[in-house]
Amino acid sequence: MAKTYDDGNVFARILRGEIPCRKVHETEHALAFHDIEPQTPTHVLVIPKGAYVDMDDFTARASEAEIAGLFRAVGDVARMVGADGPGYRILSNCGEAAHQEVAHLHIHLFAGRDLGRMIG
Ligand code: 5GP
Repeated sequence: MAKTYDDGNVFARILRGEIPCRKVHETEHALAFHDIEPQTPTHVLVIPKGAYVDMDDFTARASEAEIAGLFRAVGDVARMVGADGPGYRILSNCGEAAHQEVAHLHIHLFAGRDLGRMIG
């Protein structure tokens, strides 16, 4: 079942320029900016410019160009912020059980310290 996108969400507002963000990178298909409450020394969010609720919605409806564009941007950002050195972690919360707070797809990029072992 298709998910309903609410264009009042905070990332939609950032995309429209209604609220500010600390931009890291922007391409035709993606925008990357610093998380407002960083969990690690480097914590960047990479979002598609299109209106997608989460990874499920994105992979079901987005074009090949949008999908490639988002993941290319994640790699670009990792290199730009130096996260490709000692390593980084990407993560995307999808839905209630994962405690997704903002209903516009976003990929977290964490770096800048040892991130420990990831246990679901
Ligand atoms: P989620 O829990 O949905 O995976 O993550 C949402 C993330 O968005 C959180 O890490 C939170 O700090 C971040 N966030 C929420 N509101 C804003 C905002 O207005 N600006 C920025 N830059 N990040 C935000």
